[in-house]
Amino acid sequence: MTATTTSTYDVALIGGGHNALTCAAYLARAGLRVIVLEANDVIGGAAVTETFAPGFRNSVASYTVSLLNPKVIRDLELGRHGLRIVERPVANFWPIDAARGLLMPYGLAKRQQAIAQFSARDAERLPAYDAALEKAADVLRDLVLRTPPNVGGGIAELVKGAGLARRLRGLDVESWRLITDLFTKSAADFLDQWFESEIVKAAFAFDGIVGAYASPHTPGTAYVLLHHCFGEVNGKPGVWGHAVGGMGAISDAIAASAQSAGAEIRTQARVTTLRMTSGWVSGVVLESGEEIRARAVASGIGPKLLFRSIVPETAIKPELRARFLRIKTGSGTFRMNVALSELPDFTCRPGTNQQDHHGAGIVIGPTIDYLDRAYLDARQEGWSREPVVEMLIPSTLDDSLAPPGQHVASLFVQHVAPQLPTPRTWANACEKERFADLVIDTVTTHAPNFKASVIARQVLSPLDLETRFGLVDGDIFHGQLSLDQLFATRPVLGHAAARARIPAAASPAHPATTPRARSFAISNRSGGGRSRMGG
Ligand SMILES: Cc1cc2nc3c(=O)[nH]c(=O)nc-3n(C[C@H](O)[C@H](O)[C@H](O)COP(=O)(O)OP(=O)(O)OC[C@H]3O[C@@H](n4cnc5c(N)ncnc54)[C@H](O)[C@@H]3O)c2cc1C
Repeated sequence: MTATTTSTYDVALIGGGHNALTCAAYLARAGLRVIVLEANDVIGGAAVTETFAPGFRNSVASYTVSLLNPKVIRDLELGRHGLRIVERPVANFWPIDAARGLLMPYGLAKRQQAIAQFSARDAERLPAYDAALEKAADVLRDLVLRTPPNVGGGIAELVKGAGLARRLRGLDVESWRLITDLFTKSAADFLDQWFESEIVKAAFAFDGIVGAYASPHTPGTAYVLLHHCFGEVNGKPGVWGHAVGGMGAISDAIAASAQSAGAEIRTQARVTTLRMTSGWVSGVVLESGEEIRARAVASGIGPKLLFRSIVPETAIKPELRARFLRIKTGSGTFRMNVALSELPDFTCRPGTNQQDHHGAGIVIGPTIDYLDRAYLDARQEGWSREPVVEMLIPSTLDDSLAPPGQHVASLFVQHVAPQLPTPRTWANACEKERFADLVIDTVTTHAPNFKASVIARQVLSPLDLETRFGLVDGDIFHGQLSLDQLFATRPVLGHAAARARIPAAASPAHPATTPRARSFAISNRSGGGRSRMGG
């Protein structure tokens, strides 16, 4: 049965992840009539909180905050809509062996002290390294708020490109050297220029491999490192924090902001295709058969999924469609939540009483070789015998997540093949449970009470991330952050403005809230007319 909504929206948004919600909030505030259509029962996409065991709830996928743009927090008044972000007491903790660990606090002097235990020279180099990264991060902070110029896009794009060139003209040669290094080198090569200690290099290199499914020796990982450093929490650059109530609290606050501006949000509303009228896009069609009329459609799902499953094949040139389908996806990550009867008792920092390191991002990956080996193993075997694990225990910062005295931990594992070597498959539950056991054993190597303290667990393989959130190949970024898929080439060259065909003024705002993913406006024409898919 086909039903058509009687009213026409200005914009229908596919997906109710936090980026689509942000887009909806801005559009509604600009006076447009918008509707958000989310396939799942709940909004938020990968930024969602859930009860995964009786009495225990946690962020299901995305788990820590720094890249949520402060401009978005301000513009959408997320504080007024219930968002509260608390900072970790210390940044990170790297257990090394039974006796040694690196606890990285905040503040230059304290970080130098921590690093000096491993290398006095590295501690001395830290201020210059920080300054260099901060300089590059400043450029990036500015760039993520600009729509990249569209190659082949005519005069308007040239002007945009010129504006960008003006911004970059102020950089001196040293800055250009730094930026070139960061955009072309591997994290390992970049860090070799600065530091000598294995643990110090590994500590910084970890940011370069998160979600990259790449060795720290792979060119381009230096950029991923920078990408994970340019955020901030509560006005403090480089700090990571926790959204009270879990990441779902961010999505809820954005949704509340959007709704207060008049946006409609529907769940259990899977979009199956575009509504086409005489070759023009005129809305979307839901799985139920219902048709939603809209002057423009914006997508909050990954571009590869959009062109693979929503945009009719005939509505776009085959070469362009093929390009979208070739976007590289697969960040090689595996995600678990565990309910804990007590805090981990690390051999190198004993005690189950809450200490600073329990509130840190706890990373198992003590050398560049370890990070590299994990990647090489995963390419061959599907996962590493010694996986790279990051653990956060958000209940140390937020008592709404677990019963008193008990805890929840997020485990985020790098270098897990998006597809296992055939005939093995993630669809086989035994595979993911086997790997989940290995992850728990890995933490237990450093904190012997860990395994016995696990009361319940939630396990998400790359396939689960795809099935549950629509992340193709489990890609946490909606497409790898490789050099060929960044800025003007993201999602594909010629469509960096996140539109399939760029019309005049009244089109949806570019909705990047975190630069990890980006919505894609697939049709629009000023003056309220219908638009044609093109390319
Ligand atoms: C395991 C994991 C860990 C991460 N960790 C962090 C982190 O700690 N910090 C951080 O900043 N970022 C993290 N990220 C990245 C961050 O979560 C993503 O960048 C962000 O969620 C992307 O948001 P989005 O709104 O663009 O899309 P998504 O969150 O992917 O949302 C897309 C939405 O579209 C819906 N949808 C899909 N198809 C349809 C359809 N046909 N019709 C209707 N709806 C549809 C989906 O159900 C989903 O709700 C992580 C991601 C993952 C997966």
